[in-house]
Amino acid sequence: MKKVVKFGGSSLASAEQFKKVGDIIRSDESRRYVVPSAPGKRFSDDIKVTDMLYACYDEAKEGKDFGKLLDKISERYQEIIDGLGLSLSLEDEFKTIGEQFKAQAGSDYAASRGEYLNSMIMAEYLGYEFLDSAQYIFFDENGVFDGEKTQKVLSAKLAETERAVVPGFYGSMPDGSVKTFSRGGSDVTGSIVAKAAHADLYENWTDVSGFLIADPRIIDSPKNITTITYRELRELSYMGATVLHEDAIFPVRKEGIPINIRNTNRPEDPGTMIVETTCVRPEYTITGIAGRKGFVSINIEKDMMNSQIGFGRKVLECFEKHGISFEHMPSGIDTLTVFVHQDEFESKEQAVLSSLRHAVSPDTIELESDLALIAVVGRGMKATRGTAGRIFSALAHAYINVKMIDQGSSELNIIIGVKNDDFEKAIKAIYDIFVTVQL
Ligand code: ASP
Repeated sequence: MKKVVKFGGSSLASAEQFKKVGDIIRSDESRRYVVPSAPGKRFSDDIKVTDMLYACYDEAKEGKDFGKLLDKISERYQEIIDGLGLSLSLEDEFKTIGEQFKAQAGSDYAASRGEYLNSMIMAEYLGYEFLDSAQYIFFDENGVFDGEKTQKVLSAKLAETERAVVPGFYGSMPDGSVKTFSRGGSDVTGSIVAKAAHADLYENWTDVSGFLIADPRIIDSPKNITTITYRELRELSYMGATVLHEDAIFPVRKEGIPINIRNTNRPEDPGTMIVETTCVRPEYTITGIAGRKGFVSINIEKDMMNSQIGFGRKVLECFEKHGISFEHMPSGIDTLTVFVHQDEFESKEQAVLSSLRHAVSPDTIELESDLALIAVVGRGMKATRGTAGRIFSALAHAYINVKMIDQGSSELNIIIGVKNDDFEKAIKAIYDIFVTVQL
C-alpha cells in the first residue's frame, strides 16, 4: 500500500499544526510521499504566507524596500522551526530569495517559495528526502502542464525514493524558471505525485471532514458526503462547492486512484472518498446540493420555431460572438430560453439582443434577471422513483416558484431555476426533504 498525502495551508500554519501532521504521517507506514502547501492562516485575520510573498514581491518589483516584509515571512518559518525544536537554518535560503527578488525573478518564483520552504522544514521534521518540484514537475513553453515529461522524470525518481516531501504548487518552464499552478494548486501537485508514484490512495488533508451535502452557510451542520463519484463532484464543484482544486481530479482519475478528503484536526473522521465508480449505495437519494445566484434568462419566442432547422444554433452563435457562455437552454415548441451569467451578460445586453433580432427575427424576447440555479446531484436518483416529485412538492410547500427545470438524461442531476431571493429557502427545503426527514 502506497499513499500520497497532501496537506493544505491551515494544516501547516504553525508548529502545533505540523505536529498533528507528523502524527498522522507516522501513524501509517504507507504515507510515503508528502505534498505540503505554504503556511496558511493561524487565525481568521491572519495572512497566508503565499499572500505575503506576492505582496513582498510587488514591493520588490516597484523598486521599494521589501526587507521588512521578507523578515516577517522569515519569522513565520522560524516560529515553526523553533516550535518543532529543529536546528534547520533557512538563513541562506532567505538570502537567495532576497537576491532573486531584487533580480525580479517573477511573482511565480516568489509565491512558490512558500511551499518550497515549508517542504524543507517538513522533510527535516520527518526525516524524509526533499525533492524540489522545479526538477520534477514541468510546464511546456506555453505554460501548460507537461504531463508526459513530468510522469517520466518524477515516477523514475519516486521509484528509487522510499519516502519524500515534494512541495506543492509549482514546477518549472523549459528555460528552468519557476512556474506555479493557479491558486490552490498544491492539490494538483498531490494528484500528479499520486499518479507518478502509482499510489493506491491520494489523501488530501484539509480543515474540514470532507464534502458536505449542502453549504454550511445555508444549512446548519449539514451531513457529510461519505462517498462521491468524480462525475458527481464535477457537477457540485461547478455549481460552487469548493474543497478541492478543479484540476486535481484529472491525473488520478485516469489512473483509478481514489482521493480521500480528510481533516487534520479530526483525523478520526473518515472524510469523503472520491471514486470513479462505486456500488456503495448513497446514504440518501441525493449526494449533494449546490447552487449559484446571479443568472439571467433570455426567453425567445417565435411562431413555428419548431420547424426551423438551425434556430438554436443561430441563437447560440449570437452569444458566442459576444464571448458569453450559456449555462442551460431549455426549450418549448415555439420558445427557447437561454440562461447566462448576469455579470457577463449585463454590459453586452443590448448588443446581444440586436444580434438575436438580426439572426432569428423573434416575435418577442423577454429577459428576467436575478435568478439562481440549484443543482441537486446524486447517482442514487437514477434508481429511485419520484425524486423530482419530492423536490417539487418540497419547493411548493415552501411557497417557492420554480422558474426552470433541467434534467439531463444521465439522471445524475436536476437543475432548478428560482429567484435569487428564494435561493437559500429552496436549498433548505430540498435538504430537509431528502436528509432531515428522509422521505
Ligand atoms: N499556497 C498556494 C495558495 O495559497 C497553493 C496552495 O495552497 O494550494 O494558493
